[in-house]
Amino acid sequence: MSCDGAGTAAAWLRVAEVVREHRDELVMLDREIGDGDHGENLRRGFDMVADRLTSAEDDTPRAVLRLVASTLISTVGGAAGPLYGTALLRAGNAIGDRPVLDAAAVAAALTAAVEGVVARGRAEPGDKTMVDALQPAASAAVAASERGATIAEVLAEASAAADAGAHATVPLIARKGRASYLGERSAGHLDPGARSTALILASLAASAAS
Ligand code: ADP
Ligand code: MG
Ligand code: MG
Repeated sequence: MSCDGAGTAAAWLRVAEVVREHRDELVMLDREIGDGDHGENLRRGFDMVADRLTSAEDDTPRAVLRLVASTLISTVGGAAGPLYGTALLRAGNAIGDRPVLDAAAVAAALTAAVEGVVARGRAEPGDKTMVDALQPAASAAVAASERGATIAEVLAEASAAADAGAHATVPLIARKGRASYLGERSAGHLDPGARSTALILASLAASAAS
């Protein structure tokens, strides 16, 4: 995959498909410790992303991220819409107007993304949120990039770290978002937002490797 605007748009079109494929799984996870809408909220938002992206293939990577962000902010709702939107706006600002991404830009984008989520939602690692997937992903991406890894390698390591981080939310007690209303009863369940973050990163990594 090329890492220009067209490649970035293609990667996010694939994310939209993956979100649709996992809609029911994310609904089930959110039924266990939330209100059951995470999968449907994201499906609705990413279907709109897919509609809008098909006409945006000549843009820079940043412009693509801005389009995804603004679409998610206006269509997803709930906690996750503004958080993912903020993450992607910050990621776009971090990469600037370069026409083609490199590994360092991808690592910087992930770092900015998690900073945006934390600035907006005030969750810390261990609070059982998407931060528990995104923070280790950003750290792994920076480490890989500093070792001279390719974009595909950076995203593969970020994806693996996000997956591990998401699964590590299972025993945690939620301290942010709707799941925190359950207190100790939130333990024993995978956090839906951490799971969707891991799915998105796995999809981006697969696109970068293809
Ligand atoms: P809602 O809870 O409003 O229905 P969603 O179901 O779409 O929103 O998203 C729930 C997910 O959002 C949670 O699983 C969690 O990962 C994430 N989340 C909720 N609050 C925060 C927060 N303050 N910071 C980071 N992530 C959060
Ligand atoms: Mg919900
Ligand atoms: Mg809701």
